[in-house]
Amino acid sequence: MQFFLDYFHQQVPKAGKEIPPYYQRALSCTEALLIVYFLLSFFFFPLANNRWEWMPLALAAGAAGGLWAVKTQPIRINLCIVALLSAVWVGWNVQAFGWSSGTQHFLTLMLVFVFFNVYDRPLIKLCWFLGILAFRVLLFSWAQRNPALYSMNNSANTIYQTLNTVAFFLMLACMCVIFSTSIQDTERQLRLRNQTLYKKAETDPLTGLPNRRAMVEAIDHFRQAEPQEPFAIAIADLDFFKHVNDTYGHNCGDYTLVKLTELFVQHANGRYQVCRWGGEEFCFFMPGQNLDEAGVVMNDLCFAVEQMRLNFEGQEFSITITIGVEENDFSSPLDELLAGADKKLYLGKSQGRNRVVV
Ligand code: GH3
Ligand code: MG
Ligand code: MG
Repeated sequence: MQFFLDYFHQQVPKAGKEIPPYYQRALSCTEALLIVYFLLSFFFFPLANNRWEWMPLALAAGAAGGLWAVKTQPIRINLCIVALLSAVWVGWNVQAFGWSSGTQHFLTLMLVFVFFNVYDRPLIKLCWFLGILAFRVLLFSWAQRNPALYSMNNSANTIYQTLNTVAFFLMLACMCVIFSTSIQDTERQLRLRNQTLYKKAETDPLTGLPNRRAMVEAIDHFRQAEPQEPFAIAIADLDFFKHVNDTYGHNCGDYTLVKLTELFVQHANGRYQVCRWGGEEFCFFMPGQNLDEAGVVMNDLCFAVEQMRLNFEGQEFSITITIGVEENDFSSPLDELLAGADKKLYLGKSQGRNRVVV
């Protein structure tokens, strides 16, 4: 019940002149098959019934018009053209050859077009559905009460039934293949785009490092997966970085951040994960390490940064960093651990920078 309520409350896009490509393909394919089918019927009738019938030829012309309308007319006009062609064809056949002509299946094709039209509200689709159903029921009761105008012999009737069945199945199969392929394609593209967006949302564009959000997620995940394992975190802040920007320019500041990132990544050797925490701050996550072990790794890194020579457009300079380290106490939330590392970082700044505080 809820399913139907949801269906009837769904929002639909505004009807546009632009028909979705998959719908265009399905319409074109059906109109083209209809032309072939009507022409085959046109040439079949004299063989079966010894007289030419002009209705299939007129409908073949109508289907050709429908093919033109796919490219030029809005979706509802196309829907009406297909509906008109099907209704006239089925009505004429039932009147001429009776219910056993088997053409009434073509009304089912209409339903597929109606329900795959993204621009129509469910209520309008329901009206179409009831209209097609009523047409079919009335036609059947009419055929029960009125004899067919012409009769075909058994073998002609079998051939005609077969032609109708093959044409209907072929059109239905084409439509289903086109619609289902399009849905699968859209789903695949959405999944790929989601992955790209997800990656972008977790990556810092300048350095290519994971950002704060990704790091917090990684630490949270580790804490949940290994609640008994020790770990340490460290926050590093560049010393007098404003001076680098002011002296050599903002581009040089960016270059420095990128070069430092390269050093951090080279130096990691599986001992830590690093992220750009924000601005000129980096955060290090050292799973499995206690405060002393983490202190050694960070001291080593601090020294490596001090030793690194930077050269930006002929200007030689170097930079230092200050690091605050905190270890997991198995009780504090992550925010508190990070605040602890931050506090130690600022202690390091006040003690003269270029150092690690554990
Ligand atoms: P301290 O040793 O006390 O940390 O001094 P500082 O100059 O590094 O600190 P401050 O917070 O005063 O300056 C940080 C500067 O980092 C200011 C900001 O312009 C710069 N910065 C932050 N993000 C970027 C960035 O992406 N690129 C560049 N070039 N500069 C950045
Ligand atoms: Mg800072
Ligand atoms: Mg700084």
